[in-house]
Amino acid sequence: MKIAIAGFGALGSRLGVKLQHAGHEVTGIDGWPAHIAAINTDGLTVIHEDQAPKKYFVPIVTPTEVTGEYDLIILLTKTPQLDRMLSDIANIITQKTKLLVLSNGLGNIEVIEKHVGRDQILAGVTLWTSSLVKPGEIHTTGTGSIKLQAVGNADVNPIVEALNQANLNVEVTDDVLKAIWHKAGINSVLNPLSVLLDANILEFGTAGNAMDLALHILNEIQKVGASQGIKVDIPGIMSDLTNLLAPENAGNHYPSMYQDIQNGKYTEIDFLNGYFAKIGRQENIDTPFNALITNLIHAKEDIERVKLAKQKETFEI
Ligand code: NAD
Repeated sequence: MKIAIAGFGALGSRLGVKLQHAGHEVTGIDGWPAHIAAINTDGLTVIHEDQAPKKYFVPIVTPTEVTGEYDLIILLTKTPQLDRMLSDIANIITQKTKLLVLSNGLGNIEVIEKHVGRDQILAGVTLWTSSLVKPGEIHTTGTGSIKLQAVGNADVNPIVEALNQANLNVEVTDDVLKAIWHKAGINSVLNPLSVLLDANILEFGTAGNAMDLALHILNEIQKVGASQGIKVDIPGIMSDLTNLLAPENAGNHYPSMYQDIQNGKYTEIDFLNGYFAKIGRQENIDTPFNALITNLIHAKEDIERVKLAKQKETFEI
């Protein structure tokens, strides 16, 4: 299958390598010059757990350079960057192209619907992970899985088959929105609180009131979900959080939002807590915890960007 990965960062490049290895024709699309230069010069370096580094040569181009027709485009930008990416790659999206979004957060489907019809869209949630430690190098651990569903009437079977040839452990669900809200619930607890408390996952788990804080956030999400016809399973999310925070599972790692703040980047907060606060306002549902967390993270984004700009005398885009 001819596959483009729009957003060839941490996760996009991990999936891209696996798909190429399975025999698919994969092209990465990204706009980060240093990352593109590193991959074009030395290949993409993948370090999996404590194994020796491996190099992979996956073609990578910018959105303005990419040409051709693709059966599948996997969308893996950060959520705030999705709309711009879709505008920039409009010339490679034909009537036959299917778009699969695996980015975290809420509202992605609405963004894609501005660019293509529902019958071309597949939405998914993934438990694959990856960290981009420097341009051209990712570190990976464990394995993962993907749950996906067609938003309209697309035939998902050829895509599921192609992805599973690369051992991506894809399963079709009939309620992807529930899965997306479930993951967004987890991320709306761990990501912003890690930033605001300056704590990695292991440290956050040692806070005596960690689960109380989680419940305040999730109770609001549940009410907002009910207004949208989504059943948010708080016990299920709490159970996942308990597992993630257990000392034997929680690592010394920081969620991606923490890293985005450190790097002076805008975060996905408006597509997590900010999304729930926005829908809450529209539906007259009080969401004080999610609204406050959203404002605090925006303040933190500005503070860190100004600090970094002073250090570097230039803003990162
Ligand atoms: P990332 O920032 O490493 O990768 C995104 C890439 O998209 C970057 O390389 C960036 O240069 C590129 N990009 C963004 N906008 C662009 C544009 N307009 N033109 C060209 N290039 C553009 O992010 P990531 O960690 O790979 O995460 C991607 C998505 O997947 C996020 O929604 C994240 O929450 C989700 N996710 C990540 C992981 C993980 O472990 N990394 C796990 C599950 C879900």
